[in-house]
Amino acid sequence: MGKNKHKNKQSGKGGKHLEKAGKHNKSSMKSAALFNTKKVSNMSLPRSSGLSSGGKGLSALQQKFARKLEGSRFRIINEKLYTTQGSEAFTDFQSNPSLFDVYHEGFREQASHWPINPLHTIIQWIQKKHKQAVIADMGCGDAELASKVNNTVHSYDLVSKNSRVTACDIAHVPLKDGTVDIVVFCLSLMGTNIVDFLLEARRILKTNGIIRIAEVRSRFEGESDGIKKFTRVLHKLGFDVSGKGNSITSTSTSNSNGKGNDRNMMFFEVEALKTSRQPVVEGGYSAKACIYKKR
Ligand code: SAH
Repeated sequence: MGKNKHKNKQSGKGGKHLEKAGKHNKSSMKSAALFNTKKVSNMSLPRSSGLSSGGKGLSALQQKFARKLEGSRFRIINEKLYTTQGSEAFTDFQSNPSLFDVYHEGFREQASHWPINPLHTIIQWIQKKHKQAVIADMGCGDAELASKVNNTVHSYDLVSKNSRVTACDIAHVPLKDGTVDIVVFCLSLMGTNIVDFLLEARRILKTNGIIRIAEVRSRFEGESDGIKKFTRVLHKLGFDVSGKGNSITSTSTSNSNGKGNDRNMMFFEVEALKTSRQPVVEGGYSAKACIYKKR
């Protein structure tokens, strides 16, 4: 199930822009409320713009408005994913899979402006250092990772867009305990129950297996030492972030000089090992929503 071996070439992306820092503002409260109402469906979103059918027959001005409409549909779904539990997102996406398409069209548009896509960094890391590892890709999108490495990859997301992907909530994946060498979360710790996702990763990892996380830095900022706090949570859950080879790094976007700086570090990445320590679970941990920039 969701197990694949594929050969492929890797692509790179260029661009220059990124997202706006996430915050629990009025609009995220509003979309949280929307997600808590019965069903997320196109009824609760602006209607489709017609761009998905190629925008044929639309004037330049109509196409401009259509793009804005698609962007707002993406941002509403995005905020909902960040402000609800994974199980609820799973139920809603299963009952309306087109939400996934709208989301991913917008996500790809955003990613096309990033100088570095953290997924590509992870793919290179696997290709160089972990050719034999069995991998679980949690929140895989359309399983780009599985398509670009030769490893066995179990790919999970809310909706299965192709045969590589198994649809599920990543708090409960259909794998036995201690079966994978690496668990990847690339920009996918989206629900409010992050701790459940991390515990699930711990369950399926072999002892000394690696958890590799890439996340949007601004989700963990705004309170003192947000990223340190996140690594302390990882430690409590039985991961070792401090051992040799395990690290926290920042992925910088470039400023106009082509040089990264602290202000525009968009992503951070964590690599940690599963230890045999029993996890200590304390409630109440979550990160902020990531609000993507309007384009
Ligand atoms: N990892 C991919 C996709 C990132 S977008 C990449 O880097 O390109 C985040 C993905 O996480 C989305 O596809 C979303 O559907 C998925 N996701 C978020 N919460 C999830 C959950 N609870 N269970 C399964 N997938 C989830």
